[in-house]
Amino acid sequence: MTTADRNRLRERIATLGKSLFDRGLTMGASGNISVRLEDGGWLMTPTNACLGRLDPARISRLAGDGRLLEGDAPTKESFLHRAMYDERPGAGAIVHLHSTHSVAVSCLPDIDPGDCIPPLTAYYVMRVGRLPLVPYHVPGDPTLGDAVRGLAGRHSAVLLANHGPVVAGRDLEAAVYATEELEETAKLYLLLRGHNPRVLTPAQVADLEARFPRD
Ligand SMILES: [Zn+2]
Repeated sequence: MTTADRNRLRERIATLGKSLFDRGLTMGASGNISVRLEDGGWLMTPTNACLGRLDPARISRLAGDGRLLEGDAPTKESFLHRAMYDERPGAGAIVHLHSTHSVAVSCLPDIDPGDCIPPLTAYYVMRVGRLPLVPYHVPGDPTLGDAVRGLAGRHSAVLLANHGPVVAGRDLEAAVYATEELEETAKLYLLLRGHNPRVLTPAQVADLEARFPRD
């Protein structure tokens, strides 16, 4: 990958970060985005950076062993990304947000920890699938990375209790779209609670999973 290719990726991260911020999916300096590079390293949004105002040149570039090669120091939640990448060789990008509706679902006492949101729509099943809950940990606690690692091999997205989603995709756009699909489905789920909604049947879910496998 050439420097020009990497710079284009930096620009894409900044553009999509601003798009997420402008639509209220992330706020303050929360949320982070990473992309896996062909050399085994990563581009990652910096610590204390607002996704709405990223400077592409200051986005962190890390080597495969985690060393900082360029830009500012990476997000303190980089271990979440590393845990997911380690378990998902096909993942090219990861998005982690504290998006309101997903966090709201993560705080509910009666959700199924093996699958937090029912299969309400086909696109949710195709882009997110089964969403397990990771028990609450103090932010930055490295055992949170271990908990994510234990689930990431079987799930392209996990929901951190009282915190937010971590979502992998084959590339940057796929990871962002899956995160948006998750947030909108969390909103639908909250709208429909108490209304006994009709959800997709196990056979309908299995049919979608066979036709549209995720990375
Ligand atoms: Zn977080």
